Amino acid sequence: MTKTSESLVLVTCKAIAKHLSSTNMHYNWVIVLTWLSSFLGSKALPEVIKLGGLSESGNEVLQSAFRYAIDRINSDNYLLPNSRLSANVQQLEYQDSFQASRKACDLLDQGVAAIFGPQSIEPSATVQSTCDVLNVPHIETLWDFRARPDNHTVNLFPFANSLSKAYRDLVKSKEWKNFAIIYEENEALIRLEELLKDPLMREIKQKVLVKQLVPGQEYRKLLKEIGKAGVKNLIVDVPTENIVSFLKHAKEVDMMSEYYNYFITSLDLHTIDLEEFQYGGTNISGFRLVDDTAPEFEDISQVWHSGSVGFSHRKTKDKTYLKNITTEVALMYDAVKLFASALHEMDRRGQDVNLPAISCETEQPWSQGSLIVNYMRTITARGLTGEIKFDRYGFRSEFNLKLVDLTHEGLQEAGDWNLNVGIRITGNSTKAFEEVKASLKNKTLMITTIINPPYISLKEDTTLKDNNRYEGYCVDLIEEIAKVLGFKYVFREVADRTYGKKNEWGEWNGMIRELIEGKADLAVVDLTVTYEREDAVDFTMPFMNLGISILFKRPTKKVPKLFSFLSPLSLEVWVYMVTAFLGVSLFLFVVARFSPYEWTNPHPCDPHPDTLENQFTLLNTLWFTGGSLLQQGCEVTPRAMSTRVVSGIWWFFTLIMVSSYTANLAAFLTIQRMTSPIESAEDLAKQTSIQYGCLRSGSTQAFFKHSNFPTFKRMWNYMESARPSVFVDSNMKGVERVKKGNYALLMESTSIEYIIERNCDLMQIGGLLDSKGYGIATPSGSPYRTLLSSAILKLQEGGILQMLKQRWWKNEEKYCVMEETSHSVSASELGLDNVGGVFLVLSTGLCVACLIVILEFTWKLRTIPIEERESLCVELSRELKFAIMCGGDSKPVRKESSPPSNDLSLIQFSSLGNFNSKEAIS
Ligand code: GLU
Repeated sequence: MTKTSESLVLVTCKAIAKHLSSTNMHYNWVIVLTWLSSFLGSKALPEVIKLGGLSESGNEVLQSAFRYAIDRINSDNYLLPNSRLSANVQQLEYQDSFQASRKACDLLDQGVAAIFGPQSIEPSATVQSTCDVLNVPHIETLWDFRARPDNHTVNLFPFANSLSKAYRDLVKSKEWKNFAIIYEENEALIRLEELLKDPLMREIKQKVLVKQLVPGQEYRKLLKEIGKAGVKNLIVDVPTENIVSFLKHAKEVDMMSEYYNYFITSLDLHTIDLEEFQYGGTNISGFRLVDDTAPEFEDISQVWHSGSVGFSHRKTKDKTYLKNITTEVALMYDAVKLFASALHEMDRRGQDVNLPAISCETEQPWSQGSLIVNYMRTITARGLTGEIKFDRYGFRSEFNLKLVDLTHEGLQEAGDWNLNVGIRITGNSTKAFEEVKASLKNKTLMITTIINPPYISLKEDTTLKDNNRYEGYCVDLIEEIAKVLGFKYVFREVADRTYGKKNEWGEWNGMIRELIEGKADLAVVDLTVTYEREDAVDFTMPFMNLGISILFKRPTKKVPKLFSFLSPLSLEVWVYMVTAFLGVSLFLFVVARFSPYEWTNPHPCDPHPDTLENQFTLLNTLWFTGGSLLQQGCEVTPRAMSTRVVSGIWWFFTLIMVSSYTANLAAFLTIQRMTSPIESAEDLAKQTSIQYGCLRSGSTQAFFKHSNFPTFKRMWNYMESARPSVFVDSNMKGVERVKKGNYALLMESTSIEYIIERNCDLMQIGGLLDSKGYGIATPSGSPYRTLLSSAILKLQEGGILQMLKQRWWKNEEKYCVMEETSHSVSASELGLDNVGGVFLVLSTGLCVACLIVILEFTWKLRTIPIEERESLCVELSRELKFAIMCGGDSKPVRKESSPPSNDLSLIQFSSLGNFNSKEAIS
């Protein structure tokens, strides 16, 4: 028999043996036919293919995995039916690069088709360079951030950059407001590179702590430091074998409560026993590369014995056998499978492969090595780590990761990640919700609070203990919520008696600080939900809505003034009225003298009087206008059109003014006016005589401090600089100060409502300056927040909140009779704005009268023969002069026969009056 036919027989036997071991007859026939066809066709692969393995001491499990993988492939009916893989493993010292390169050469001398391992970066790099020179496939399964494309190394470990993206995506999806990165090895920063350079880091820069643990140093100190900084989200990059001790230390320093979130970067979290931590409520999550849906998974995982060297055929009934498969083991299995699949594919395509012994000395490269590497990089195989495929640079950049979360039932899948889709959370939220609900039932929550009636106050009976000492709206509220959710609680007053304010170094005080430091589970009182606080803690939905307003002393009744009859009109209007009276009187006087129709015959029986008379003397005119103003009549009556217009318009004016005055006077006399010196925040800001302030370290103070609205800014500048301080330590102290007078307290409307119900001498000024709500605060990331919110919603819909408000706000004993204050009274003095129009009408009427009187004069002048009169202008100015000079209330009649004269007095005397008289006679 030739060597070829010998080997053919061998292969035939192997194939038949394989097929006989199968139970499925139909399947057997298919295989037999496949085998026959390959037997009749070309035979491209050697019957024995040697695979070299380099195993460092301490990595015996991996060595077993390598051998197991080879055995499994050999017993596989489909892969490489005509060949048998044979393992040739060389032992070497841990991280010994020199030994690694020597042993690699030994293996190559023996004609291995590929070298697997070793597991440490440095020795592996040495082997890689040897393989590169000799064109031998080198297969790695380790995390290697230095991986370069275009060489003969095929690394099955997920490409560092893609893995880093997975970590980044997960952290982003968690929407943490702050977090700490704890790492041991420097490479961890490369693993988290994508996260560290993400814009998210810039946004929350102040709140990201990056801490390195010196290997061997204990974790407690560092953890305490992080806990003190109020960071509750931790990204932990420590070697897998240290994870348990890390978590134990976290437990010891009280960082294993339900408020803490740990993301473990190790892909082997599933291999760790986390039972000790699974009931604490701490959210521990990580990624898993091992795919438990792979066809061979169950088989392999059952035979693999966790922690032991080699593998046993122990079958476990429970599904904990996932623990047995570490990422390294799975990758080693996949590496062998991928190599076998590549050879199989080459065989299928009729590629010849021969395996010569390769010498490191001669440096003669293997002609087919590169081809095998190319096949490995181009085919897609499915293994224990999911789909194995490589990008065009030869990196395994596309892979699937399972997101796992620690629950009461151990690690459970909660989502997955891949490069194209990113993170997908598919966790059973209802189940998680139910778990939290169940855990809350056995809990006693620590509630931090502050004494501030009616929210929380101390009962009068000092012998009472614990929760019985307190009463108030919030005590009832928490009792109702506890009834719904079934938890127990303990009230404790906050040590520094403040609500919570952030200082310039970003540190909080008050109740907020207690929540951050984990000293309390809830903060329940009139705690306002603010943007700044939301950053540090979590709030439930608000249980009460409110806004800032002003508490001020109610003004006392005003003693009626002696001259209060002057109040209906403003001083300005009074001045205008007097001016109008004098002005109109004078105007009427002049017009009456100017108008020829106001000059009458004093003796009607004499048809040719020598003089004419005018009834509108200065005194008569004042009497006439005064009489009209006071709604009285007088014997003087205007005759000429012009004077009648003046009188008419004056009467209209007086009618309106007197009616307005009367109406307003009635209002002034019937209403007991109480005037408050301030009616709004603007009024407060404008003045300095009344002091104003607010509660120290509360949200009201923060509101003014951060406001950009000019009025509030001005108010803040005043409050901040006022000495003695205008800030008060408690609402009650503020109320006392307001009662003393000359102080306004900026306070929340619900508290004002409560206070004015019980203090009739106090009142609220103006409306609300903003709008916000009170919520229950929990530490950031608290799992109870949603439950508390839904309980609040339930109470709100059931009308319980409204009922509680009624109970604690309404004051049965004392009922304040609310007296009207100035801002609700409609009567206020009439200003020029109100009556200006009447003055305008008056002025217009007077102008019209002016025109009419000129017309009258011109009309009369027309009746004088042209030779007896002068031009219109001269006549006009002459008459005006006469009218203004007040030359008595009579004047001589101008005779027709009188010669024209230049004498001024004559001209004056020869006025138009004579024609009047003539007319009167006729
Ligand atoms: N409710 C406020 C707070 O949460 C306290 C009262 C105030 O500032 O007016 O800080």
